[in-house]
Amino acid sequence: MIEQVFPDIFRIEIPLPKNPLRATNSYFIRGKQRNLLVDTGFNCQESRQAMIEALHELNASMKITDLLITHLHSDLAGLLTFLVTPETTVWMNEADAYVVGGSRQSPHWALFSSFLQLSGLIADGVEDTIERHPGYKYAPELFDRFTMVTDGLEINVGDYCFKCLLTNGHTPGHICLYDEKKKLLFSGDHILGKITPNITLWQLGEDVLGSYLNSLDRVAALDVEIVLPGHRDIIHDCCGRINELKEHHRLRLENVMDILGGGSMNGVEVASRMKWDLSYENWRDFPWGQKLFATGEAMSHLYHLFYTGVLSIISDNGVLYFKKR
Ligand SMILES: [Zn+2]
Repeated sequence: MIEQVFPDIFRIEIPLPKNPLRATNSYFIRGKQRNLLVDTGFNCQESRQAMIEALHELNASMKITDLLITHLHSDLAGLLTFLVTPETTVWMNEADAYVVGGSRQSPHWALFSSFLQLSGLIADGVEDTIERHPGYKYAPELFDRFTMVTDGLEINVGDYCFKCLLTNGHTPGHICLYDEKKKLLFSGDHILGKITPNITLWQLGEDVLGSYLNSLDRVAALDVEIVLPGHRDIIHDCCGRINELKEHHRLRLENVMDILGGGSMNGVEVASRMKWDLSYENWRDFPWGQKLFATGEAMSHLYHLFYTGVLSIISDNGVLYFKKR
């Protein structure tokens, strides 16, 4: 499905089979000499087919179209190597390009097993099979011809002048595109409408939730009328949505503190007691992917509380336990 959302800007809905996100928004911006395509879809047949049909309908050739990938996740970056031509410039921030360029051989995936171990997922009986992970399964092929996006870089397409904003948190190198004059923001997965972006922790030693909250404040300070997100509907109240997202994480941090009480718990023990907007009766019924998602989210909140001096961490048998100081 293609919808014109602004003069010369088209939203292309790319289906994501068997995925709760349902579809990715890819945006085609028609320029004078060159066009820009923002984000793609999974590297799978359904996404490929939808993209081919959309580009055909838009009468768009990838020879005169450049690509900007907002972040490393395969639902946005997957079709990169399928679409690219020798003439295509591929814009991405270095931190995320490093993961995407390495495809399934990226060191990023080597962190998966240690995340399962340290968070308590292995002890909980979760299978250590990266092949089941959609991000791994639908990744683009190896690629090393990125043009690196730095914070503040400007990209001109037709009547638009987009400033690239590093908005890390959802991923380390997440980029939003902002046109100040048109008050328009391409938000990737930094700000979504009905869905709260997953803030997860694989790589220990980082406060990703802290980074995410800072990046939300950065966008809140901008004059934005229209947000074009990576999934679902366009957002018209940017600051209102940012406040909702901040409140969501504040409540989640409160929930984690209540769960911990006076004891010490690992990531899985906390995740299995947290409030999730899912229809499963208990933790045992959560599918494999949902257990990963929930535990990664719990870990990012636990680590934020550690970095803000509220919790301490103890390692026991290769699993991390958190307790109040
Ligand atoms: Zn994402």
